[in-house]
Amino acid sequence: MGILDGKKVKFEILEELKKKVELLDRKPGLAVIQIGEDPASCVYVKNKNKMADNLGYIFNHIKLSEDVNEEEVLSIISNLNNDDNIDGILVQMPVPKHLNPKVIQEAIDPFKDVDGLNSVNMGKLAHDTNCLIPCTPMGIVDLLKYYNIPISGKNVTIIGRSDLVGKPLASLMTNNNATVTLCHSKTSNLKDFTLLADILVVAVGVPNLITKDYVKEGSVVIDVGINRLDNGKICGDVDFDSVKDKVSYITPVPGGVGQMTVAELGLNTYKAYILRK
Ligand code: NAP
Repeated sequence: MGILDGKKVKFEILEELKKKVELLDRKPGLAVIQIGEDPASCVYVKNKNKMADNLGYIFNHIKLSEDVNEEEVLSIISNLNNDDNIDGILVQMPVPKHLNPKVIQEAIDPFKDVDGLNSVNMGKLAHDTNCLIPCTPMGIVDLLKYYNIPISGKNVTIIGRSDLVGKPLASLMTNNNATVTLCHSKTSNLKDFTLLADILVVAVGVPNLITKDYVKEGSVVIDVGINRLDNGKICGDVDFDSVKDKVSYITPVPGGVGQMTVAELGLNTYKAYILRK
């Protein structure tokens, strides 16, 4: 069994990117809007800040109170859309319940939408045209490519159909010539589909949902889940110890897909800079 080491690949991607950033005539700017004090969001924003500082980007962290209204958020986004020094805009999800995440994502200029979540980028991804692609799905594909794991012609089963992970990943895998099955909570007989998978991607948010009886011998397992247990430990959606001896490759949690997601945000900000030139 081989480990798909997201930390190592992230480091290499960012080192390579740093060299390209040094050649630009202006520092790329990334704005992250954080609403409220969700502890997990604070950690994610901190990691993004660290990545941006390391690359020499301008990092504009806009912290808004939990009770901010939609109008204020939209006005801030509009200012950022018009700010020539800002190339990427991201609103850290989840947002408080009184705000509609779709309205917020749609307000971001598609050319600055480094999360790739507004419908222009989602549509372009479905059409397989150049666009900003959501970071986690892109990170998964780049991780597989780094380890020379073929995607073309393979059966890829994805569990989870969120806008953030499952749906864009289904498009991206299709664009890479995989045969894709997208499963969710209403899927009957989940095992029938997971056992077909040469590459199984699990993005559900249920600790240890996938055990060895769900995976095909020699398959590749990508665990997207990030779950915090009562003892404070982080675990994925896959029971690592149960499946590790049956698979050819697996991502660890932490140290797998989450690391790639941060690297892809760095890449997307650079891409947004280039697209806007
Ligand atoms: P989400 O929006 O809550 O979506 C979860 C998906 O899982 C839904 O499609 C849901 O089906 C499906 N599901 C729930 N229970 C299921 C079950 N028992 N069997 C089959 N499918 C089931 O979650 P998300 O935002 O995609 O995130 C998923 C996980 O990935 C979370 O742990 C999150 O923290 C993690 N995550 C990690 C990264 C990273 O960088 N590593 C990035 C994003 C998310 P329905 O659609 O039918 O409800």
